[in-house]
Amino acid sequence: MLEKLLENLKGLEPSRILLQVPEGLKPKVLEFAREIEKLGHEVFISAEPCFGSCDLRDREAEKLGAVLVHIGHTDFGLKPECRVIWEEYRLEFDPKPYLEQNLDVLKRYKTLGLLSTLQYLNSLQDAKEFLESRGVSCHLGIPAGGQMLGKARYPGQILGCDLTAALSIQNLVDAFLFLGTGRFHVLGLVRKTEKPVLMLDFDSGKLEDLTGERERLERIRQACIEEAKGSKHFGILVSTKPGQFRPELAVKLKKKLEELGKQVWILVFDEITPEKILGMHLDILVNTACPRLSEDLERFEKPVLEPEEVDRLFEKPQKPSYE
Ligand code: SF4
Repeated sequence: MLEKLLENLKGLEPSRILLQVPEGLKPKVLEFAREIEKLGHEVFISAEPCFGSCDLRDREAEKLGAVLVHIGHTDFGLKPECRVIWEEYRLEFDPKPYLEQNLDVLKRYKTLGLLSTLQYLNSLQDAKEFLESRGVSCHLGIPAGGQMLGKARYPGQILGCDLTAALSIQNLVDAFLFLGTGRFHVLGLVRKTEKPVLMLDFDSGKLEDLTGERERLERIRQACIEEAKGSKHFGILVSTKPGQFRPELAVKLKKKLEELGKQVWILVFDEITPEKILGMHLDILVNTACPRLSEDLERFEKPVLEPEEVDRLFEKPQKPSYE
């Protein structure tokens, strides 16, 4: 799996390396480190949690005088503080048996937009060929960054914070089909498009129609907004992770909220977790970092608004309902 990376590292003078992998690859990280050490490099392993290429540990690498090797994500287009070697780590997975099993449902749509995360992108072309051979035409949308650096980079690739590969083709397709694992990315899409959204889960082989979640999610968001309208104390969350750091947006949101008579504080974190704000008497949080956080209402035990939702606080109050 790491042939290309090891080949690259062979060409590098013996160096100090800081190795960073996402949570899903942590069980393999010791093995990766051993392989890299065999090439004569000195390896440090970043133990900090990592959920995306937005979370580059370049400052630590610079402190260590190390080259950062980041495995498992695409280059986010950041300007790192040190040399970074990216290794995408895609998995080979044949989607055809699962598609065959679920063909009756998939054939209800004439045109599908196929989507996945980096890990399973290699399966999209196989899925397209298979479905088209069965009469379902398929599109792979191009992310807004295209082949330029910046968030999603490849046809059909989505991230929780970059759904442009899907949104760019929503007028061309009858529905979206996400192939892979994990619901976070695809639930983000359910809220941003009016088209049906299906997920073929590569762990279970089950096809799930997530379209019904749209109404439930929107009800929850609306309830958060209504609660925020009547609340006084707001905390705006800023993460210093390089690809999530948006202090100017936080300042802008603070001003808007103050226009509504709210009391607002800007809180700065690396990893944003509820324990860090225990004891601060805040009613509502506004998230400027990874969109995943706004979905995590239960952990924070209070509404977490997305930046775009602040404008909705200017609307007339309605009755909140979290059901
Ligand atoms: S900001 Fe969130 S969704 Fe975007 S790459 Fe980072 S972890 Fe993934």
